[in-house]
Amino acid sequence: MKIKLWGVRGSIPCPGPETVGYGGNTACLELRFGEEERLVVIDAGSGVRKLGESIVKNDLKKGPLNFPLFLTHTHWDHIMGFPFFVPIFIPGTVIDVYGPVTYEDEGLDKIIGDQLRYRYFPVKHSELSASLNYYPLMEGPMDLGDDILVTTKYLNHPILCLGYRFEYKGKVFCTAYDTEPFRNVFPTDPTQPGYDPVAAQEGEEAAREENEKILRFYKDADLLIHDAQYTQKEYLESKLGWGHTPFETAINNAHKANVKKLLLFHHDPNRTDEQLEELVDGYRRKISAKSDLEIEIAREGDEYIL
Ligand SMILES: [Zn+2]
Ligand SMILES: [Zn+2]
Repeated sequence: MKIKLWGVRGSIPCPGPETVGYGGNTACLELRFGEEERLVVIDAGSGVRKLGESIVKNDLKKGPLNFPLFLTHTHWDHIMGFPFFVPIFIPGTVIDVYGPVTYEDEGLDKIIGDQLRYRYFPVKHSELSASLNYYPLMEGPMDLGDDILVTTKYLNHPILCLGYRFEYKGKVFCTAYDTEPFRNVFPTDPTQPGYDPVAAQEGEEAAREENEKILRFYKDADLLIHDAQYTQKEYLESKLGWGHTPFETAINNAHKANVKKLLLFHHDPNRTDEQLEELVDGYRRKISAKSDLEIEIAREGDEYIL
């Protein structure tokens, strides 16, 4: 299994001299399986534009394109590259698009397709040459054939968002973004209005159970791509409930789940290359004595082979 990173940033593309090292494009991953190099794409952030060019250059000569695109969720930074993904303009191409949608939402076709309206873009969704099939996806296992197994897991984000666990030839690759730790939603301080000791206790247990489920989801992964948008300080000061994880929690979780290699991902658009390196060097120094967990900063263009 090969994993290539085409976009690693969170929230909005942020090109420029301060981010050129780790890259300014939003989430997009290319997965390849086996000798045949079977293609699976995760997310269509702005990074998917360059991936599209690469697919046209390398895959089209082997025959018509036919591959799945798995969306973690439909926040704009994860779908904004779709109108610029060249394969959607190529006749004969078939793309199966999978992603989570809530019952009150419109279908995936409408959520993605609405970006391709004259109001926003010069080509309409109905004018695209590729065949696009949209499938709502829920939590659970799915067999992709060729011995490729994928399992999805709901994460903690303001909208439904899925983590993906791929298992292939004894190796495990997982994603856990965009997500933040589950926490007790009930007041826990007896002096707070509305405090109820039973609810407080139940809320505490529910949060712990949900967090443990996520640890089990990426247990023993060879490679884990985890949300790490904020520092613990930034998170507690002003980002609670925004749906992202502090570096410290991502590292602790990966350690607890016996992950071999952790890629810190969904970098804050305001974080410069220099700041990212300084922060992560600090965390590495803190944990090095007690863990053999490898920690890397996700970098656009990097490739991993499992
Ligand atoms: Zn995001
Ligand atoms: Zn999001």
